Amino acid sequence: MKRAMCAKLCALLLFLSACGTQTENNSATIFAMDTQMELTAYGSGADEAVRAATQEINRLDALLSAQREGSFIYQLNHAQGEPVSRDTDVGETLLLPVIQLCEDTGGALDITVYPAVEAWGFPSGSYRVPEAAELDALREKVDYREVSVDVAEGSSTTVTLPQNMSIDLGAVGKGYAADRVVELWKDMGVTSGLLNLGGNVQCLGGKPDGSDWTVAIRHPEDQGRYLATVTGRDMAVVTSGAYQRNFELDGVIYHHILDPATCMPADSGLTSVTIVAESGLLADGLSTAVYVMGPDRAGELWRERRDFDMVLYTEDGTLWYTPGLAGRFAPAEGLTAQVLE
Ligand code: AMP
Ligand code: MG
Repeated sequence: MKRAMCAKLCALLLFLSACGTQTENNSATIFAMDTQMELTAYGSGADEAVRAATQEINRLDALLSAQREGSFIYQLNHAQGEPVSRDTDVGETLLLPVIQLCEDTGGALDITVYPAVEAWGFPSGSYRVPEAAELDALREKVDYREVSVDVAEGSSTTVTLPQNMSIDLGAVGKGYAADRVVELWKDMGVTSGLLNLGGNVQCLGGKPDGSDWTVAIRHPEDQGRYLATVTGRDMAVVTSGAYQRNFELDGVIYHHILDPATCMPADSGLTSVTIVAESGLLADGLSTAVYVMGPDRAGELWRERRDFDMVLYTEDGTLWYTPGLAGRFAPAEGLTAQVLE
């Protein structure tokens, strides 16, 4: 599991060296949401900003983790069909938007895929390949439309889940956490900051010297190389790839992004998906969904929505990017890229 986390951490390399100025800053490296995270804030309130961000991420981890006993999600997954309530706004700010995203992606994103994620052994590290009959039974337990979310005044959330079903916010939790930290930092008056939550990169404003951030996307087949860079400000750059968490059995590599329709690792012809959007939650949810959907369905989704950009890398080595990235996207040396229109 540790190795996979490191791989995830290296998913995106940040080019920070060009910052140049001696702006006051503070950074912290923390471990939360099953991954290593780096938080950096610039300006006079940087120390307090990093402290508050650490606290917020730890709070969300304790609330949303599927594995931590006592978390809202853990309780829900063990409630045997009974409703579970918490004094929290995650119903409104996270669960309802994510269920909508499950719908918008035709179920390629499905937060109820957790029984299958567990059956493959990803949370525990006790990896195994479920047999066909077990996969048939697992498919019966996956359907985001069965999750009922009630949002009451005063920021309380009640969720009901049918017995035998369980949910996992692993595909969206880091993106959501990054959005919350950015909101918090804006409220605190921070104008420049950078989050790398295990490969989910999110920038607040531009660099402290006023220029844009440059984020490099890791090459999925080689940790030491990158595919391309994206520059910008106030953006989330989130990558999903099979290399981030997987195991090998009898010469076959099985990875952690499951196609909810089969409960098998997605096999859509993509090896890396990067979503660039203002919202970390949207970018995180879509990176997982698009990995499942494959290039053709992803292109259709992009043409319908146009509220995100993406960089796709296929098994046959084709690099695609959407036109919204024109002028701020550069393929690595030796690679050529095609515009997806
Ligand atoms: P990400 O790294 O953001 O692509 O999210 C992958 C994680 O989300 C996995 O480790 C699982 O916990 C969970 N997951 C896997 N497949 C899906 C899916 N199709 N929909 C929702 N969550 C998923
Ligand atoms: Mg994701």
